[in-house]
Amino acid sequence: MRAVRVAGPGVVEVAEVPAPKLEAPTDAIVRVTLAGICGTDLHLSSGHADGVPPGTRLGHEFVGDVVDVGSHVRRIAPGDHVMGADFTACGACRFCEAGDHWHCKERAFFGTGTAYGPELHGAQAELVRVPHAETTLAPTGGLSDEAAILAGDNLATGWIAVERAGARPGEIVAVLGGGAVGQLVALSALTIGAAAVVLVEPSVARRELAERRGVLAATPEEAPALVRALTDGDGADVVVDAVGGTRVLASALGIVRKRGRIVSVGAQPDAAFALPVARAFVDELTLSFAIGDAIRTRSQVASLLRRHALDPGWVIDGRVPLSEAARAYAELRAQRFLKVVLDPHR
Ligand SMILES: [Zn+2]
Ligand SMILES: [Zn+2]
Repeated sequence: MRAVRVAGPGVVEVAEVPAPKLEAPTDAIVRVTLAGICGTDLHLSSGHADGVPPGTRLGHEFVGDVVDVGSHVRRIAPGDHVMGADFTACGACRFCEAGDHWHCKERAFFGTGTAYGPELHGAQAELVRVPHAETTLAPTGGLSDEAAILAGDNLATGWIAVERAGARPGEIVAVLGGGAVGQLVALSALTIGAAAVVLVEPSVARRELAERRGVLAATPEEAPALVRALTDGDGADVVVDAVGGTRVLASALGIVRKRGRIVSVGAQPDAAFALPVARAFVDELTLSFAIGDAIRTRSQVASLLRRHALDPGWVIDGRVPLSEAARAYAELRAQRFLKVVLDPHR
């Protein structure tokens, strides 16, 4: 079968690889009907990430049809059309029972090499092996493949940012970064009733996309003045970092109000950050970090999607055959797309 893998720094290729087989009685094999390319994939294939050598098979966002299941899998059966989560979890440990699937000892993150734990081959492929299938997979329940792809990762991340921040109706939310995740944070904040959402993004095209959905948009230079104007000079109630990196955390500190909450959902590659603790203490700031948990949030998110209370399909602006994955990655890297999905069967 064909699968997308890292070819070298900043380059991917589509290669012929052995088809996956069931390895445990809790596994399933899924025939992928659509797979997303995520900002994480761009980072992992850039040559700047550890644990992702050439040959690593990429992709952690997928939707497809179950073709085979292990002997212990009961709730999922061949023929089911399912959405994946970006990582697996056992569903039974203390962390899983608390809804903190990322911290499960059985977690394996699809298509990320050994960057986050044991390797599990990626889903940008014709077939993917899914451990702990009953926990990792869920029926799409009539969602479009595009909506299900988003619920499996980027929208789970957007949603958890708002949830972790404890954002309440009527609050002012600033979002740093207008990539797919930033746009979905903004949409999630509007859905829970934010009075205003300010998306801070250098790209004019990405600012315009947000403005069309009722989001206020600003360049990084304009943002502090806009946030001050909206809040009588106080600062934003919630600031979400949807980019990652310590420079963005510093920007967040520049626009958050006293007793405000900063949540970072962007990957943090730096080992340390100089937090101004004297101010953080006096202003009683909260700084937290969150990783989307599609397994926990997908049923809540899916019910919003089904009723069109949350309508994120526009975020996906590229649909490309799997065979053209190298081009799709290059164009996404050049920001000619916001979000691309790969079709393995076209
Ligand atoms: Zn991702
Ligand atoms: Zn677990």
